[in-house]
Amino acid sequence: HTKSIGRNTYSYFTHAMNKEVSRRLAIEEQIHGALERNELSVHYQIQLDILDGSIMGAEALLRWNNPTLGSVSPAEFIPIAEQTGVIEPMGEFILKRALEAAKTWQNQFNDNFRVAINLSPRQFRNPHLVQAIKDQVELMGMKPDDLELEITEGVLLSGHAYTLEALMKLSKAGFCISMDDFGTGYSSLSYLRTYPFKILKIDRSFINDMNKDEKSHELIIATIEMAHALGIQVIAEGVETQEQLDELSFMMCDYAQGFLISKPAPFDELLQIGENYKELHQQIVKQAKPSS
Ligand code: C2E
Ligand code: MG
Ligand code: MG
Ligand code: MG
Repeated sequence: HTKSIGRNTYSYFTHAMNKEVSRRLAIEEQIHGALERNELSVHYQIQLDILDGSIMGAEALLRWNNPTLGSVSPAEFIPIAEQTGVIEPMGEFILKRALEAAKTWQNQFNDNFRVAINLSPRQFRNPHLVQAIKDQVELMGMKPDDLELEITEGVLLSGHAYTLEALMKLSKAGFCISMDDFGTGYSSLSYLRTYPFKILKIDRSFINDMNKDEKSHELIIATIEMAHALGIQVIAEGVETQEQLDELSFMMCDYAQGFLISKPAPFDELLQIGENYKELHQQIVKQAKPSS
């Protein structure tokens, strides 16, 4: 009897594993021409200034839609893009798109709007990364200040001298460098000491738990205080409820990003939000500051 359960379990896992392996193989196979076949697009998610309720900027996030695979999440394809090297042309693509979007937004709404892109470890191995970013920004008539570069500790873990050098150059040139997903992984405090971060993004797992778990709540308070003492601003990621936003406002968190404010959306939808923003803004600010 035990034996047959064992065998069923075995075949169940083999089946699941085969499915996983074949999907991975299909992703590896399809990812190569994805850019050329126009299967990639960029979605934007608003970053809200909690203090005055204005739109500070937006994070650009890659989307991939393939005829056979359907929509593939970045969590699934970015690691493969990293390994195969296609992250390089993808990175150029999103940089260009994001800057175009920021320029359009600035012309239509406000000059201070900033767009954020994510940079992955592989991109730092390219010795021309810094110059390529500078050139693209200049070519489009934008300022370094218009671009936020988000990196996770995966970029820093290697501890390569060229990563530090590239980040220092980018920072000196005026680009805004952010530490993404702060609080997950190793998140060594020495990163904050060594690297020129202007912004720290608290990982959404903490925000998700903040009203259920005392420790998460206290860790957010301590992180905001520590960041501010270092002259670093804070973005809370994954804000999904008004209760969380109110609490973050009370904690003096600078910015919020999450489904409550907006889901990542195509640029024309973002523009639509911008058009209707006065209302949304009043709603959010009113609720975030019940006393005023
Ligand atoms: P990330 O940089 O931390 O981006 C935030 C992720 O959280 C996005 O997932 C976003 O859709 C999701 N998110 C935002 N607000 C909420 C919320 O309120 N609730 C929940 N549950 N989720 C929320 P997405 O778009 O699936 O991207 C996943 C990750 O893939 C990103 O995490 C980033 O690390 C990577 N990624 C996406 N686009 C790029 C890219 O162009 N280049 C690189 N190198 N990585 C990228
Ligand atoms: Mg990010
Ligand atoms: Mg993040
Ligand atoms: Mg993340």
